[in-house]
Amino acid sequence: MQIPHKKAETLKTRPQSSQLGFGTIFTDHMFNMDYSPDKGWHNPRIEPYAPFVMEPSSMVLHYGQAIFEGLKAYRTADGGVQLFRPQDNLHRFNLSAKRMCIPQFDEAFLLEALIELVRIEKDWVPDGEGTSLYIRPTIIATDPFIGLRASNTYRLFIILSPVGAYYPEGFNPVKIWVTNEYVRAVRGGVGQAKTAGNYAASLYAGQLAHEEGYTQVLWLDGVERKYIEEVGTMNIFFLIGDELITPALNGSILAGVTRDSVISLAKSWGMKVVERQLAIDEVFAAHAQGQLKEVFGSGTAAVISPVGKIKFGSQEIVIGDGAVGSFSARLFHDLMDLQYGKTADPFKWTMKVA
Ligand SMILES: *Cc1c(COP(=O)(O)O)cnc(C)c1O
Repeated sequence: MQIPHKKAETLKTRPQSSQLGFGTIFTDHMFNMDYSPDKGWHNPRIEPYAPFVMEPSSMVLHYGQAIFEGLKAYRTADGGVQLFRPQDNLHRFNLSAKRMCIPQFDEAFLLEALIELVRIEKDWVPDGEGTSLYIRPTIIATDPFIGLRASNTYRLFIILSPVGAYYPEGFNPVKIWVTNEYVRAVRGGVGQAKTAGNYAASLYAGQLAHEEGYTQVLWLDGVERKYIEEVGTMNIFFLIGDELITPALNGSILAGVTRDSVISLAKSWGMKVVERQLAIDEVFAAHAQGQLKEVFGSGTAAVISPVGKIKFGSQEIVIGDGAVGSFSARLFHDLMDLQYGKTADPFKWTMKVA
């Protein structure tokens, strides 16, 4: 399949690997495709990265009918480029679309388009330790209409951003803040969809956590405000005794690709992994009994984010000795080695694209 490609007239100066942060620099080209009821998804094209002209009445700006994905392209030691489980991201993208009344797209076609865009921009994939090219597919509702209903027209786009190592100052544990006052999502709501409003809804509690000196919010369930859901925009794991426990997917938790990879890797090492409802009180009780060994978040951006402290109400607990646990470190390094093609991939998770 040939996707029309209009080349940028001038190319940007690419930043040095060592100067990269997260999400501020975009490559020369992007992918665009449109939807209308009569043509379906049509006019796929790769063209220069450029601003959109939109009607102020565009539905996405008023009612937030928008979904996105996040995955990465990695530079391998031989100078090639590979993706990590891209089919899983595109499948989740379609699941999010369904929940938000956005028309389904052809996953195989979108994967081809994504690969083609990454190939065109392959020189933008940085090669510094821990760096990558972040891929952001997005769909927005574009009807110029301010009545409330699902839009009839949509724009699907993919933009690319070279990103730096998540831990430029080393792999250190974060402090997290549990709230039972604010919730991220509720059962029956849109928590399992990667939809824009979930992130807007999380900002206020995130701000309060920062003011208290914590990096992330640990979200509890929206009904009883007792059971653990996620941390910030990551899934969360607890090593209690010799069991690795993570909240079961219940409809309000985002089904992370990294979460699934952690579960598979841990099982392949012979570890007992349990997906179940887990109360915050149970975590504090396990800590009191000396059974809470490690806690970490999982997500594409950070891969593994070890948790050093958890604050809930007036109580704060320190996990282990406050340093990175050996299991978290092993997961972090093994997952990264797979993503960067440094080790064999028995799971067939990686896809070489250049
Ligand atoms: C994207 C996301 C995650 C992590 O998903 P990955 O596929 O592992 O990157 C977890 N929770 C939320 C709320 C997210 O948006």
